[in-house]
Amino acid sequence: MAGDPYRVWLSEIMLQQTTVAAVIPYFGRFLEAWPTVGALAAAELDAVLRAWAGLGYYARARNLHACAREVAGRFGGRFPETEAALRELPGIGLYTAAAIAAIAFGRPATVVDGNVERVVARLFAVTEPLPAVRPHLRALAETLTPDRDCGDFAQAMMDLGATVCTPRRPRCLACPLVGVCAAAAAGIAESLPRRAVKAERPTRRGVAYWLEDGEEAVLLRRRVDTGLLGGMIELPSTEWAVQGAPDADSVAGQAPVRAAWRALPGTVRHTFTHFHLELTLVAAGLAGPGAASGAGGFWVPVARLGEQALPSVMQKLIRHALAETGRDARATRKT
Ligand code: SF4
Repeated sequence: MAGDPYRVWLSEIMLQQTTVAAVIPYFGRFLEAWPTVGALAAAELDAVLRAWAGLGYYARARNLHACAREVAGRFGGRFPETEAALRELPGIGLYTAAAIAAIAFGRPATVVDGNVERVVARLFAVTEPLPAVRPHLRALAETLTPDRDCGDFAQAMMDLGATVCTPRRPRCLACPLVGVCAAAAAGIAESLPRRAVKAERPTRRGVAYWLEDGEEAVLLRRRVDTGLLGGMIELPSTEWAVQGAPDADSVAGQAPVRAAWRALPGTVRHTFTHFHLELTLVAAGLAGPGAASGAGGFWVPVARLGEQALPSVMQKLIRHALAETGRDARATRKT
């Protein structure tokens, strides 16, 4: 059974490294705002980034928008059907191309996500650790893929992994594959797939600047388009360094303006894929908008902060700053 390519694509991009529970409200809001790929292509990138704010891994939102524009411009609003053509589109890798080809178009394609990797590792009792064994697991999965009903097969494998062949306590007695499963026969199912020991995540530290202009507006800036949180809006901050929090001279030197900065109590913590982040805040107020010249960035009234494309870490920082400067975070609103 084939699905709507736009919905399949949108859900697969949102679900990358994100839970179903977190994605559901975003998926609904995106479909309401942009019911077709053409509508999404016609949207401003800023509106898409704002709607994505809080979902994380923001390069996905930029690629989503670029991909919609390419599908609308190059393919007349229809997604290409083959894995090879799909993989040429921004943000569509091996997994997503296979999922769209199989689920949306019923094409023969092997869809391998973490659930499928686990099922295959157990069916064949593969004991070499991830991630190095990944290509081998994919090759084994390809030997199982049927010539027809590939979408149903892919979804059945993913569902089996999510509900029966679970990471802990797989329910082998209820599994339709128990008769052909090597790991179940050997009694090693729960220990597979094995994983190479991961390096510890380092902790980076920095200081963020809460600068007000005397008229209840706060200084924000836009991050560069590439890299972590590319193109998102942020409070200015020092560099996030692994060596530790910057000293007072460094905080003054990296500040957007010279001002009487005072430290706010507390620390805001956030975890990214590759590091933990600990930020403290310093605050200052300027006499009026004129005093803010040279600060760079742009000013946003406190009550309108919720309308910005703020990633989760910045939302946490702003809530913390509002609480520490005696305001209610609920006073900001999101449109
Ligand atoms: Fe997974 Fe057990 Fe089924 Fe094997 S028998 S696929 S280990 S649930």
